[in-house]
Amino acid sequence: MPQLSRRIEKFTDSVIRRMTRISDEYDAINLSQGFPDFDPPKEILDALAQVAYGGPHQYSVTYGAPNLREALAQKHGKAIGRVVDPETEVLVTCGGTEAMMSIMMTICNPGDKVIVFSPFYENYGADAILSGADPIYVPLVPPNFEFDPVALEAAFQQGAKAIIVCNPSNPTGKVFRKDELELIGRLATQYDAFILTDEVYEHIVFPPYHHVHMAGLPGLYDRTITCSSLSKTYSITGWRLGYLVGPAQVVENAKKVHDFLTVGAPAPLQEAACVGLKFGPDYYLGLQTLYLEKRDYFCQALDRLGLKHTTPQGSYFVLVDISDFLKLPQFSGWTDLEFCEWMIREYRVAAVPGSSFFREPVNNFIRLHFARSREVLDEALYRLGKMASILNQ
Ligand code: GLN
Repeated sequence: MPQLSRRIEKFTDSVIRRMTRISDEYDAINLSQGFPDFDPPKEILDALAQVAYGGPHQYSVTYGAPNLREALAQKHGKAIGRVVDPETEVLVTCGGTEAMMSIMMTICNPGDKVIVFSPFYENYGADAILSGADPIYVPLVPPNFEFDPVALEAAFQQGAKAIIVCNPSNPTGKVFRKDELELIGRLATQYDAFILTDEVYEHIVFPPYHHVHMAGLPGLYDRTITCSSLSKTYSITGWRLGYLVGPAQVVENAKKVHDFLTVGAPAPLQEAACVGLKFGPDYYLGLQTLYLEKRDYFCQALDRLGLKHTTPQGSYFVLVDISDFLKLPQFSGWTDLEFCEWMIREYRVAAVPGSSFFREPVNNFIRLHFARSREVLDEALYRLGKMASILNQ
């Protein structure tokens, strides 16, 4: 057989998605890949039912259905305090995943450097490889996941073309403070780099923290491309609806990449999702409250089980520290992946090994998410409790 591309050798399948497959194989409770187990809002489902017979069922405009782009321009424009042109500054993609991939392919030449904070959402590694870019990693240092401004400036000094900022951050749950975003913005301006944000958890932020849009900070709109998604905000991860918003010169070019990658996001789903974008502030407050309750319930239960963990400021991810397990003789020499596989087999709870997010050799975290109904969380916690009892034997 002829050889496959060299590109392909440089990355594996997504560990997050692989854990879902293993979880399904063992009929485990899947707290690995982050998605909710509850329904989208009824209004969106009703709209979907109508679309089934009323259409559209054929391609939408490649760049996104005009009504969806208009609604996104309104919503994002309001959030960042400026008028966004739906014709030239908004592109609808197949999920936030395609938004990030398209923009990376739009701005990167082979060999360009892109700054990525570590730990990072694993897609950015593959995005960089597929677009020919070389990542420069800057650590977000546990337990507070702060970054060192000197290290960040040193990364820009290496000639970075862009920086990726996932805010709220997956998997740390960090919500970047305004002063941190301003610092990133100042350095990006000084060293003339793009800022690519991934804001798919923008509506899952817990008080007293609040979400600041990089693109809304003074002077940053023209170098910031905001990638986001409807997946988490409206509980429709399977619909694959994402978007990017940014300056027209960049977005007009990203449209070309998108067009040849996917042609477009599913037309019927774009139509139905428009209903969600008309929701008022109550909807977003309700979503935040729902996840806040889940966060507190889950984190307090982990405390009672004696499992050390991070408490997210935003997103629905918790990193559980498994160091105490790895110190026991029966786990000697284990990787976090082996630990996760064992956890699925023995306790039927799926997590993501933390090492798939870290550039540094970190082996002592597993990532769990709490986007599950109370009953499912209770059962998962019961099983995790049995696992935690090993520590007291
Ligand atoms: N962001 C989700 C996670 O980290 C998954 C997104 C995806 O699989 N496309 O689990």
